Amino acid sequence: MKKILKKNLQNLFAAISKETDLFLPVLNSAKNAEFKKWTEGTEYSEELNTVRSAKDFFFPQTENICDFKTSGKNIEIIENSELPENFAVFGVRACDLKSFEVLDNVFLSEPVDSFYKTRRENAVIFTMACNRPKETCFCHTFNINAADPKGDVECFEDETYVYLNPLTQKGKDLLNKVTSALEDETEEPVKKIKAEIEERLKNLPLYNLSAESFGSDKTEEFFNRKEWDELSEACLGCGTCTFVCPTCQCYDIKDFNTGHGVKRFRCWDSCMYSDFTKMSAGQPRTHQKERFRQRFMHKLVYYPTNNNGMFSCVGCGRCLKKCPISMNIVKVIKKLGGTANG
Ligand code: SF4
Ligand code: SF4
Repeated sequence: MKKILKKNLQNLFAAISKETDLFLPVLNSAKNAEFKKWTEGTEYSEELNTVRSAKDFFFPQTENICDFKTSGKNIEIIENSELPENFAVFGVRACDLKSFEVLDNVFLSEPVDSFYKTRRENAVIFTMACNRPKETCFCHTFNINAADPKGDVECFEDETYVYLNPLTQKGKDLLNKVTSALEDETEEPVKKIKAEIEERLKNLPLYNLSAESFGSDKTEEFFNRKEWDELSEACLGCGTCTFVCPTCQCYDIKDFNTGHGVKRFRCWDSCMYSDFTKMSAGQPRTHQKERFRQRFMHKLVYYPTNNNGMFSCVGCGRCLKKCPISMNIVKVIKKLGGTANG
């Protein structure tokens, strides 16, 4: 276990930045936390949670995956994707770390997404335990422990110090390069921090929320529940919930003719949009209720069915904060209650 005085954190960030690009949560002008590249003087923000999740590092909102040039009947494919060299992300919370596992099951299964894989392999993740979890947090529902965040280097903080515990070879290698900025420490202070966080978690309003009744092979039980009408009635189909969600992974591929060739982009899409998965034969989900149901059935039933029971919600609470009509997965879980009532 290593530690550094909080007032000296800039020294650690500078030392890491000499080795690799470093990103961390910072407050923007609207006082919202967002991940930014560290440069001298950039202040780390303890604010929970970043508005956009850490999934952007591996699955960016838009990316130019290749270009084409045509000449007569010939098509030349130009590979021009910009994949980052090694980089480090500091301050990733336990929920966002778990979201990487959800995304891995999608992007690293065959056929492997090579862009995603390269980014995952090139990243060193410094997590941070959540000293002040918010009322909207419910990671405990999905067996995530905000006091035990894991990652390549797991970090903890008290008023004076940040403690760093490397857990993987990648994490150890990077910390070994910046040891001059760090002091040795025993496990004791971190044990105390963990115990205090676990007590705070128990007092959160959503601590006892259970998703146990959902999960694999529950499609028939939940698909035709009459409550979907009421739950989805006010949904605007804005897609905000999907864009802030660390586990949503739908995308579309679009080609743009620049006049000098064609640029192919991959862009996030949303199952809440009316043209999502539209085919030449028509739109498979013609009403907002069907789109709304798709989002929550995917998180709570379809994804677990295909991934050994793992849910594709990590309880980060972002959709609770951002939905303009205050609809969210917690209301869906509570309303459907986990019991069939037809
Ligand atoms: S559904 Fe909501 S609470 Fe769950 S991971 Fe997505 S944004 Fe977070
Ligand atoms: S649930 Fe809320 S955030 Fe999601 S699409 Fe509907 S209105 Fe928008």
